[in-house]
Amino acid sequence: MIGTLDPKIPPGPLAQKWRNHRDHSRLVSPNNRRKFEVIVVGSGLAGGSAAATLGELGYRVKCFCFQDSARRAHSIAAQGGINAAKNYQNDGDSVYRLFHDTIKGGDFRAREANVYRLAEISNNIIDQCVAQGVPFAREYGGLLANRSFGGAQVSRTFYARGQTGQQLLLGCYQALCHQIAAGTVRMFPQTEMLDLVIVDGQAKGIITRSLRTGKIDSHAADAVVLATGGYGNVFYLSTNARGCNVTATYRAYKRGALFANPSFTQIHPTCIPVSGEHQSKLTLMSESLRNDGRVWVPKRKEDRDKPPGEIPEQDRDYYLERKYPSYGNLAPRDIASRAAKEVCDEGRGVGPGGRGVYLDFADAIKRLGENTIRERYGNLFEVYEKITGENAYKVPMRIYPAVHYTMGGLWVDYDLMSNVQGLFVIGEANFSDHGANRLGASALMQGLADGYFILPNTLPNYLASQMGKRPSPDAPEFRDTEKDVRARIEKLLNVNGTRSLDSFHRELGLLLWEKCGMSRHEKGLREALQKIPKLREEFWHDVRVLGSEQDYNQALERAGRVADFLEFAELMCISRPCI
Ligand SMILES: Cc1cc2nc3c(=O)[nH]c(=O)nc-3n(C[C@H](O)[C@H](O)[C@H](O)COP(=O)(O)OP(=O)(O)OC[C@H]3O[C@@H](n4cnc5c(N)ncnc54)[C@H](O)[C@@H]3O)c2cc1C
Repeated sequence: MIGTLDPKIPPGPLAQKWRNHRDHSRLVSPNNRRKFEVIVVGSGLAGGSAAATLGELGYRVKCFCFQDSARRAHSIAAQGGINAAKNYQNDGDSVYRLFHDTIKGGDFRAREANVYRLAEISNNIIDQCVAQGVPFAREYGGLLANRSFGGAQVSRTFYARGQTGQQLLLGCYQALCHQIAAGTVRMFPQTEMLDLVIVDGQAKGIITRSLRTGKIDSHAADAVVLATGGYGNVFYLSTNARGCNVTATYRAYKRGALFANPSFTQIHPTCIPVSGEHQSKLTLMSESLRNDGRVWVPKRKEDRDKPPGEIPEQDRDYYLERKYPSYGNLAPRDIASRAAKEVCDEGRGVGPGGRGVYLDFADAIKRLGENTIRERYGNLFEVYEKITGENAYKVPMRIYPAVHYTMGGLWVDYDLMSNVQGLFVIGEANFSDHGANRLGASALMQGLADGYFILPNTLPNYLASQMGKRPSPDAPEFRDTEKDVRARIEKLLNVNGTRSLDSFHRELGLLLWEKCGMSRHEKGLREALQKIPKLREEFWHDVRVLGSEQDYNQALERAGRVADFLEFAELMCISRPCI
């Protein structure tokens, strides 16, 4: 079942690969498209855009999500913006420069062909979304506005105040609803994929559980697309929505799909610091804030408990401006995160526990006025005040790095197909162009490029050879996989232990953060590899999962996800970067 990892990069010069590939890929004729069923798991920006576009092309699509509505996918949380090489600012941007910045931002590990394609398509995404009515910010004269994000010396980030993901998702959702009404897409909300079905070495279906009724179902298709997002919650504390998990991709892994760089985690430098033990979620303060905010800590550790206003200019260390003068406060995320950890490790961190650095708007307010800052970031300042009780117009924000985005994921080839034939993986769930898209405002770009533009061109290349090969959902492979799913659920409910799910998840997350987080070394990873199996064993002997399987049972939902995190964490600690 597992083929060789052949990325199938098309021949020819970089700038012509995508065009040539499309010209020579196999097609499915309009009359035949309705004969193909495609399963799309996920309705975030990647899955929603893919399902809508495939529906519009005439395929029959089944789209699944675990939320009560497609428009509640985690993509809705994205704040800052989406990159595109439009060069509206006339500041020297181009497709090549976006490609180059992304490759450089990814430490030259990325698959160049994919990244070049991503940069090319970035411009189509903006056109598509504007045509849908996405209300991107505009300049006074009506042109679309841009702001700067980390790792770039041009302004190429399109945004809708601090709600870019929400507005993009509304555009995508309306396209999806249009297809639902047209009958090409069937939506299955509150339905969780619990396993992948392989028939003759090809992905041909999934097993799902209704989160409302507990009903287990088999769904057969000609191809399966996973658009199930990131798994940052393996660390327990992250900026991700609480529901984000690894189950779909990990279950696919158990059926033969390979992960690439699973421990490749983006740690975002601009989050509200952890405030206590009972916290279950971290909050992102968008990177866009670093356009105007200046990052600093006291030069001397003795000053760290002083109120910031009492630390004079000459005693402050604007360490990003000092160390990286060409990017300053907009240094790439990984560099800014490491630098924050370094100054806190030196004992110069501020706030409770010394795990924080200041993000100070005093200069920008002096230069531009409070109203301009309010217009640009008002909702973010409100969020900050609600959580910390501090008014960031008056005192600097305190920020610290947190787990934010998973650059690892299931390996895919140029067509976005995993090593399992017929299993496609898009958006944050795949390995994100080999970790290339670690720069800010690139995840939305990648998810929408995958869903609106790439998959609809590459999926037919596979489907063209699959006419009439869709198995029945009563085939033995479906029955066997369904049996496995039921057995696992029964096992979880039968443990009847004493420890809460949260306590296992929290312990795992803390261990991973310490040993496989922002910095790691062999000794720590070996330690984690000893502790994780023990914790897993304890889980299966002592976890308490109440309720029944034939019901709305959130404890059971979460138990399955935590059980998968407990296995997946080991994979993260074992993994070596593949280049
Ligand atoms: C706070 C925050 C702010 C961000 N801001 C930005 C930004 O400004 N710019 C940027 O480019 N990126 C940003 N990102 C990253 C970006 O939002 C995500 O990478 C992107 O939205 C992921 O989209 P997706 O479609 O791949 O996954 P998601 O939006 O996470 O969607 C996953 C879908 O899969 C479904 N699903 C998952 N598992 C299952 C299962 N087993 N069965 C059924 N359904 C399942 C879910 O229900 C959901 O519909 C931000 C991330 C966070 C956390």
